[in-house]
Amino acid sequence: MMQRRTFLRTMVPAVAAAQYALGQSDSPWGGPVLDTHLHLRANADACYTHMQGCGVSHAVLLTPAADQDRAKAEMEKRPGHFVRSVRIDPAAADSTEVLRSAIKNGAVSIGELKFHLALDSHEMQKVYDLAADLHVPVMMHIQVFPHFAGEMPYNTGYTQFDKMLRAHPRTNFIGHGDLFWAHISADVPTDRGYPPGPIKKGGLTDRWLSDFPNLYADMSANSGNNALSRDPEFTPGFITRHKDKLIFGSDCSCADGKGSGISQNNNPEATRLSGKCVARETLTVLKGAASPQIFRAITFENGVKLFKVPTT
Ligand SMILES: [Zn+2]
Ligand SMILES: [Zn+2]
Repeated sequence: MMQRRTFLRTMVPAVAAAQYALGQSDSPWGGPVLDTHLHLRANADACYTHMQGCGVSHAVLLTPAADQDRAKAEMEKRPGHFVRSVRIDPAAADSTEVLRSAIKNGAVSIGELKFHLALDSHEMQKVYDLAADLHVPVMMHIQVFPHFAGEMPYNTGYTQFDKMLRAHPRTNFIGHGDLFWAHISADVPTDRGYPPGPIKKGGLTDRWLSDFPNLYADMSANSGNNALSRDPEFTPGFITRHKDKLIFGSDCSCADGKGSGISQNNNPEATRLSGKCVARETLTVLKGAASPQIFRAITFENGVKLFKVPTT
């Protein structure tokens, strides 16, 4: 026991202590799990119900600026399980002040930003600078192929995103969404959101995760699950290569953490996960493809560090 405790403390002191306190045997995943992509739900405690159903111990509640007080109430009801983000359309006239004030009041991140702006727009760059100044990460939903007729693209210009990664070295960026994950492969079709099949080496997302210390990857939703599942020979190497940059999140909308209710609604291309809990599915893929140590990093330690989640 002494040896194990010494080893863990050397690795990541605060996280190791929290894991030890929580008792790893209580979790179906062998330790605490942080879901960094859980949208605040309309009904009180519905987020916590989902977490209990899928074995998640901690979560970042993705919260619009207008719902900060409601998220705070959820956090107070279940102390020690939640932190919250803040989001507002960066094109809103008072966006900088709204974000700044929510972060001063306890929000730990900005996101998810899912608006019809270019990644290199003035509005987005103002957010990147604010995130750097306030030491919080910023997460973007990157998608151009529509889920339904008439859906407009979000956060366009991904193929030139390296310019932003270079121009804002103090900003911690978290990529998420269909196109971010389609670029795990060098071959990106334009007629679908979730390309299946073998991955061609040299994809932009794979390269940039290696090249830029300030880029992280949110593995949530069908997009993250699909990228990890489509080429089982590619996945273990990708996970090992980016073990410090991958962050587990679910973006699941099932009711009970077991797949009931509407999941992946309004997105016919994502039916492969209908009736399933995305959190459980992605944790299962990760469990199969990562060593226990890397699984723990991706599902807990990396997110705790990046979002500064208190775990004591
Ligand atoms: Zn999203
Ligand atoms: Zn679920």
